Amino acid sequence: MDTEDTPGASPDLQRSVGRPAPKRWICNSCRSLLMEDWLLTAPSPFDAEMTLTACPRCKQCDEGFMEVCDEPTCMREAGCGWPTGDNNDQWGGYRRTCYEHSEWKRKTPNV
Ligand SMILES: [Zn+2]
Ligand SMILES: [Zn+2]
Repeated sequence: MDTEDTPGASPDLQRSVGRPAPKRWICNSCRSLLMEDWLLTAPSPFDAEMTLTACPRCKQCDEGFMEVCDEPTCMREAGCGWPTGDNNDQWGGYRRTCYEHSEWKRKTPNV
């Protein structure tokens, strides 16, 4: 896999419990890995209730973004959302992960 767009150091790993885990997205157009606060947002000129979200790299705002698993070392698509049972953890009590890091996988005994 192309790791060119991945920052060398992994500041995510230094996060402490109680701090919200940063969400990560992959641009559907240029495939850049983006931290949520890197995304460009602006009120939609078509509907004041809506917010347009654009990629800071390629500036697209209509192809969308793929949500990435909230496990810091994982780059898979987050297809699972599940409550952690602890609202004070770094995910605010709710995680978005790939299947490998979901609670369903965890509950399954190792095969
Ligand atoms: Zn992009
Ligand atoms: Zn994962």
